[in-house]
Amino acid sequence: MRYDFTVIDYQLRQQLRQREYLLEISRAMTARLDLSSLLRLILENAAEMVQGEVGLMALREGDSAFRIAASYGLPARLLPRFAPLLTDIPYLSDGTAAAWHIPDLQMRLGLVARAVGLPLHQIVALPLAVEDELLGVIYIFRAGSAAFSPNDQQVLSSFADQAAIAVRNARLYEEMAAEKKRLDAIIEHSADGVMILDAERHIQVINRALSAMTGWPAESALGRPCYQVFSLQNPQGFDLCQTGGPPVDVPQEGSLYVEGNLERPGGTRITVGVTYTPLYDDGGRLVNIIVNVHDISRFREAEEMKSTFISVISHELKTPVSLIKGYAGTLRRDDANWDKETVRESLAVIEEESDRLNVLINNLLDASRIQAGVLKLELGDLDLTRLATKVVERFRVQSPKHQYQLDFPGDFPMVLADEERIREVLSNLLGNAVKYSPDGGPVRVGGWADEANVTVYVADQGIGIPAAEQGRLFHRFYRVDSSLRRKTQGAGLGLFLCKAIVEAHGGRIWVRSEEGKGATFFFTLPRG
Ligand code: ATP
Ligand code: MG
Repeated sequence: MRYDFTVIDYQLRQQLRQREYLLEISRAMTARLDLSSLLRLILENAAEMVQGEVGLMALREGDSAFRIAASYGLPARLLPRFAPLLTDIPYLSDGTAAAWHIPDLQMRLGLVARAVGLPLHQIVALPLAVEDELLGVIYIFRAGSAAFSPNDQQVLSSFADQAAIAVRNARLYEEMAAEKKRLDAIIEHSADGVMILDAERHIQVINRALSAMTGWPAESALGRPCYQVFSLQNPQGFDLCQTGGPPVDVPQEGSLYVEGNLERPGGTRITVGVTYTPLYDDGGRLVNIIVNVHDISRFREAEEMKSTFISVISHELKTPVSLIKGYAGTLRRDDANWDKETVRESLAVIEEESDRLNVLINNLLDASRIQAGVLKLELGDLDLTRLATKVVERFRVQSPKHQYQLDFPGDFPMVLADEERIREVLSNLLGNAVKYSPDGGPVRVGGWADEANVTVYVADQGIGIPAAEQGRLFHRFYRVDSSLRRKTQGAGLGLFLCKAIVEAHGGRIWVRSEEGKGATFFFTLPRG
């Protein structure tokens, strides 16, 4: 018996090479090359294995059209001419690759060979399939006349299997990566604070909103125990992030909601509503706690505002009404015969208190108009020097204890403004200057102009305002707490209205003051 050793030797070498190629591809797959270079590698090896000069790999896209994903032995500009091979590709009919073939393959080859001007005479097509899903197709071409043998097909199908797995894995990975990116983005950009804790309550994820609330940048917060970053003070003493005290049970189902105050850097606080949702694994072990933090300071403030409103208003209304009623009742007593002076003084009180009521009611109406955004201005040419002089004259009569000075330059310009509203601003500022310098003293009103704006100021030498309070003066109903405040009347609306009016004109209002040394309020109006 004679053996043809050259044939056996050739077959052995061929098998060896084939193994090497497959090994290289497996290595490349585990080395996680990006998909397109991996496909190119597979195609290149497949073509070389079966001595094909040219190769193509096309993948099915989402819209089920096929697109070329890798090529071998071809310049890129020729790729569009392979279009005839990318249409009417059948699905796997009975779920197996064996029965699969592309109709009119030889005719398509003829079309393509003519279009590209290459002597492509032989073609073999293999499906890229995982289970019964067709992911794409591999074509290998030969220039010579030798047809592809069943053995060649066999070799190629193992490459096709590898490519199919690579494609499927890459797609799964891409989908997961996209999904993760989407989830990360949702968490990161959520307007509420979000934090994910591990079972030991260390921070695994903290989003932008919560970083801003706590003042902890994500880089420094990650990995820390929750209580260090999120110091929630809860009136009910119930906090999952606390270290001391009895361990708090996270609920087995659903979530836990608590409200509390969050300490912020710089000593400020916000009121937050926090939802803790535990995540358990299949064995019932706690894996994560999802923490949602919602800033509810504004709701709290709104609630407090409502109750302040009611108490301030009832107090401020009651005082003048009871004075008016008291004086009127005394005057009309039948058994008394009042002298002229007493009647005059009593009527003066009644008039003054009615004025005060009137101002308060107007202020309240304006405040609600501002809130509703319907504060209207009636603009006209305004001579601020004249207006300030008139307002000051009124105060000279009403509160003669103070020394009033006017300090406007002779060439102070006219501005375009609503005279009645600016009168209100000046009256409020002068009213405050007088009210908050109870021992009398100088009150100065003046101004200057630059190219763009005029600036007006009202200065007193009264009790002044502590620096920490100055930011809040212009808030609705805000009054600085002092013994004088408790003695003076006021709803805390004056400066709020001044600010709204000045800003509606496009100006700005601010204060400069030192406690005990008086206060100067400034406001600007644009020159038009
Ligand atoms: P209203 O003006 O509604 O009658 P009010 O005078 O208390 O009440 P605002 O004019 O808004 O309210 O002033 C708010 C607070 O700012 C005052 O309660 C007072 O504590 C402080 N304040 C305002 N002006 C002065 C000032 N010139 N000197 C010292 N404190 C002032
Ligand atoms: Mg006031």
